[in-house]
Amino acid sequence: MSKDGRSAEELFGLPQGLAYNDFIILPGYIDFSPDEVNLESRLTRNIRLKRPLVSSPMDTVTESGMAIAMALLGGIGIIHYNNTIEEQVKEVRKVKRFENGFINDPIVLSPDHSIRDIDQIKQQYGFSGIPVTEDGKLFSRLVGIVTNRDVDFETNRSKKIREVMSTDLQTAREGITLVEANEILKKSKKGKLPIVDERGNLVSLMCRNDLVKNREFPFSSKDEKKQLMVGACIGTQDEDRDRLDELVKAGIDVVVIDSAQGNSLYQIDIIKYIKKKYPALEVVGGNVVTEEQSKNLIDAGVDALRIGMGPGSICTTQTTMAVGRPQATAVYRCAKYSRGRGVPVIADGGIANIGHIAKALAIGASTAMMGSMFAGTQEAPGDYFYENGVRLKKYRGMASLEAMEKGGAKRYFADETKIKVAQGVSGAVVDKGSMFDYVPYLIQGLKHSFQDMGVRDISLLQEQIYGGELRFELRSLSAQIEGGVHDMYSYKEPKYM
Ligand code: GDP
Ligand code: 5GP
Repeated sequence: MSKDGRSAEELFGLPQGLAYNDFIILPGYIDFSPDEVNLESRLTRNIRLKRPLVSSPMDTVTESGMAIAMALLGGIGIIHYNNTIEEQVKEVRKVKRFENGFINDPIVLSPDHSIRDIDQIKQQYGFSGIPVTEDGKLFSRLVGIVTNRDVDFETNRSKKIREVMSTDLQTAREGITLVEANEILKKSKKGKLPIVDERGNLVSLMCRNDLVKNREFPFSSKDEKKQLMVGACIGTQDEDRDRLDELVKAGIDVVVIDSAQGNSLYQIDIIKYIKKKYPALEVVGGNVVTEEQSKNLIDAGVDALRIGMGPGSICTTQTTMAVGRPQATAVYRCAKYSRGRGVPVIADGGIANIGHIAKALAIGASTAMMGSMFAGTQEAPGDYFYENGVRLKKYRGMASLEAMEKGGAKRYFADETKIKVAQGVSGAVVDKGSMFDYVPYLIQGLKHSFQDMGVRDISLLQEQIYGGELRFELRSLSAQIEGGVHDMYSYKEPKYM
């Protein structure tokens, strides 16, 4: 019997470029439950994620709140760079400090600091449990600890810490294992466990909350120090080298070089520069949509590629510049070429529902990057507002006039030009609630999709794509209409799509 449908190569060998909606995946054979589906994937050559999801480096999508949620939920967030170096670094630090095993560089105060200093730390980093040492430094004698409970009802914020700190301390000795320290924390019922050396000098800190978080987020993306993973974006200009140095100091796991058309001398120069200066740092290049573009950036040394030029929900590039590529074809072509070179690709832009994520993976992407899908969640930057009674959040392209005025033109080589040509729009998206409800829903949906395809995990999926076992079919316009809800008098849309 000849095989029904088409292989991916046959599908994308057709003369037209395809978008996600233009094709469908034919069902496979089910001999497993959705719970058995493993969505672990490669973000870059050396970073693996338990969930193949990335939040886009846009100023209405990814700052620390989003990046923390993404990492806890098994994906990763890329902090945008439409800000000063200091602002971007601060966002990275917040993610890196969020969850720890041993915190080896805890914030420390001295007895002579005031409650106001705690308020400032609370505002900047979000925590308030601070060990107190004789001279306010690490590796000095531990004399107490202040926590929120010591200061929350104190009206005189100038009061010295020595007057409010707790001195009844439960500590552990340096050299203790993470498991042993966890046991002490569980038994002591205290929020913090300072770790001291044999002379009683503070060397690190553990937080009870991290135990709870570990239990709740078994798939979280963490580095070898057990801190959440985070990425950050830079451009290709001279000042971006300073930005990079500071981001590396702050502990980023991956840097994304942000450019709408990545195949440039500037990008190739900066990739080589980064790979020489920080050989251990994972570098994502892009954006690209052709094999030739992919080749140039891989030759320069990237560890992953970001695919997409113009498919984004806020994009006007294809209309205005007449350059780009339909996204599904771009993903397939670049993924296939890059696989041969051992480099995974990120499908970036144009993803509007679970089916699009599944399709991006089913044509070779290792991860999917989303802007509009995440911009309406609580964890995205900005406040909600109402329009016609609907609760909304702002979402804007980084090349919208509004974002460029704030500095976002970097991505489009437009910094110096007086007349700015927009390649994106600014608008609003509907409230999506919390990422902690939304992402588990997306993951469960993806698992069902994999079950329907008859594939248990992403590496098997990739074998089936290139082996021709996974079958596809083009969808006519009427097939697309048939595949959506139709012929109803009225119906209620599900909360998420
Ligand atoms: P607190 O009781 O206000 O200190 O806050 P929590 O204990 O609820 O949360 C503190 C979180 O911040 C934990 O996940 C810590 O791992 C993390 N963290 C990172 N760096 C530090 C630090 O220097 N001091 C403290 N106290 N927490 C830190
Ligand atoms: P979405 O998920 O909303 O469909 O697309 C998000 C992606 O669109 C981003 O990750 C980025 O690659 C791209 N993008 C962000 N801002 C702009 C813009 O102003 N113009 C264009 N052409 N693309 C943008």
